[in-house]
Amino acid sequence: MTGCVMSFPQDFSEITRRDVPLAAYTWLKVGGPAQYLVEPRSADELVAVVQAAQHAGIQSRLLGGGSNVLVPDTGLSGITLRLTHECFSRVTIEAAIVRAGGGALLSHAMSQSVAAGLAGLENLVGIPGTVGGALHGNAGTRYGEVGQYVRSVTVLNSAGEQCVRTEDELTFGYRTSSINEPVILEVEFELTPDDPDEITRRMRKQWIIKKATQPLSFQSAGCIFKNPRGLSTGALIEQAGLKGTRVGQAEVSDRHANFVVTHEGATATEVRTLIDLIRSKVTEIHGVDLELEIQVW
Ligand SMILES: Cc1cc2nc3c(=O)[nH]c(=O)nc-3n(C[C@H](O)[C@H](O)[C@H](O)COP(=O)(O)OP(=O)(O)OC[C@H]3O[C@@H](n4cnc5c(N)ncnc54)[C@H](O)[C@@H]3O)c2cc1C
Repeated sequence: MTGCVMSFPQDFSEITRRDVPLAAYTWLKVGGPAQYLVEPRSADELVAVVQAAQHAGIQSRLLGGGSNVLVPDTGLSGITLRLTHECFSRVTIEAAIVRAGGGALLSHAMSQSVAAGLAGLENLVGIPGTVGGALHGNAGTRYGEVGQYVRSVTVLNSAGEQCVRTEDELTFGYRTSSINEPVILEVEFELTPDDPDEITRRMRKQWIIKKATQPLSFQSAGCIFKNPRGLSTGALIEQAGLKGTRVGQAEVSDRHANFVVTHEGATATEVRTLIDLIRSKVTEIHGVDLELEIQVW
């Protein structure tokens, strides 16, 4: 970049679409359109968009695989970025280091690592979405969290400046990370060499358990709420008698009560109303305040 800031949307017409319905890009399959949906074709183009948005005071946000977000029926104003170009989804491996683009599917980074005889990421089997989305919320299972395998992260801040943050500058907690920059461009994982057959065996076992306990064949956004310390939110919701409760076409899963599943014709408003109902019932019955795990936009 030469230091001259380009203008949005005029200078980005080749990568910008207006009023694009977002439901199809989310796992809940609800929600309205993005005012501008922008899919850059290179890191330079991404930097230029972020800088132009900042300069013009236009809000921008990044949509990864859409497996942990609820988009409102009224849609999103400003820019919704997606890192769909292959330059953002490369996975390369050198010794025990796996480098993955922020737009790469987590499952892709995982399968490449397993094939190379590198253990760690198999503990995340069954988590949909991208590497960037996983890092943003420190996605994990009872077997491990993504943050524990991270060596460094390349991010873009809201001024469009690129910087690398190393392991010692990052903190990861239960479904949170200290990475608050708007774009995670690339991640370096440091994994442990192990026998590929052994890793695959572990991964299959974990996948079978996940499939047996979660409604994976339905539209959902995974767990709606975090687990309060030492408690299971699924159990709290179930004990409140809410399994199967519906608001319109949104329903509390009868397989796992911390999942809301959506049926044909559901709206984001129905999902929100159901979330509010679950929260107030659980407070009333158990005296516990549930904290959202999904991002309600
Ligand atoms: C069936 C199902 C099962 C699930 N199981 C689990 C599970 O076992 N454990 C678990 O932790 N989660 C689980 N989830 C939730 C979800 O898959 C994870 O949170 C996932 O990591 C989100 O990634 P994504 O790319 O879909 O992010 P999105 O939903 O697109 O975005 C989530 C957040 O991350 C931000 N983000 C996305 N990409 C980037 C990026 N490149 N740079 C900066 N910010 C970014 C977004 O702005 C947003 O704030 C499940 C979801 C479903 C639907």
